[in-house]
Amino acid sequence: MKPPVVILVGPQHPGNVGAVARGAANFGVTDLRVVAPSCDIRSNEALSRAVHAKDLLVRAPIFATLDEALVGTSLVIGTTARSALAPNHFLRKPSDIRDVMESLRDWDGQLAWVFGREDAGLTQNEVERCDQLVTIPTADYNSLNLAHAATLCCYESFRLGAASITRERTLEPDALAALNRAWDAIVDETESRDWRQKTARGVWRKVIGRSRPDTFEVHNVLGILSNTLKRFGREGFQTPASQKYLGEQGKLVTRRDDVATDSGDVDEEVSEAPDSGAAAPALAGLRKASGPGKAALADKEKRRMARDAGHDESA
Ligand code: SAH
Repeated sequence: MKPPVVILVGPQHPGNVGAVARGAANFGVTDLRVVAPSCDIRSNEALSRAVHAKDLLVRAPIFATLDEALVGTSLVIGTTARSALAPNHFLRKPSDIRDVMESLRDWDGQLAWVFGREDAGLTQNEVERCDQLVTIPTADYNSLNLAHAATLCCYESFRLGAASITRERTLEPDALAALNRAWDAIVDETESRDWRQKTARGVWRKVIGRSRPDTFEVHNVLGILSNTLKRFGREGFQTPASQKYLGEQGKLVTRRDDVATDSGDVDEEVSEAPDSGAAAPALAGLRKASGPGKAALADKEKRRMARDAGHDESA
């Protein structure tokens, strides 16, 4: 949507007019119009409140009537703080701004936002000149400062078309499946009761699935899980991308999920894996694998876990 035209009808406080110019400029408005102001809209106070939007304020044309100010616009939306009007006042019954903005999502005309006087808002005639009336939902105290209302409306228009500034998050194919596989293996190692295994697998998928992890995060968590699994003598828990990378480097440890063996020699080999690319976090995990005596440690761990599981009444 094009930036809206902002029209102030009968503003009374120059500071507010300056602050409207600032808020409007923040959200890409280049056309500010003023109808019959009852203050000097270019006073020092107005200019100083406009900060970096002085130009928009200085250029703002002044009209005698709202009709004249509306020339060239295609949809006129008036704004009001009053949401609880008699049901027979159809024209004056405002819509919630959220619903109105939703309906404008794919609309491409020239919108005009119209704002009323600080003390009395828009007159009945002015409201009748609007195609629609909106209100910004508030707590019980519903009358916003003019500049705050104008800024919020400009923000609402702006955000419809604004590209997101949130960093894009991507997740490499099959990474989540590898993470789940590693978790399931830890569950196997540490919990013997079927029903608790089933719950732990389900809860993990719920939590991870909801959190939208990215590639780096999955590699990072998987690195720790695969370190843990090494303590149980289990190897081969990487993402397919990491496995491919390790394979290319000739450092792939084949998967031996079911056998608990001492793999000290294998660790030697993997410990040279360089830290680079998307596979880096997982590789960093591999480098820190435990050394000699791991099988013994794994056995000890297994016994402890079996013991804990037997006594654990907390579930
Ligand atoms: N006492 C006046 C308040 C005017 S506030 C009245 O009841 O109308 C000045 C202007 O800010 C209003 O005319 C309207 O354009 C805007 N405004 C204030 N509160 C608003 C709200 N909650 N939603 C939409 N616009 C609002």
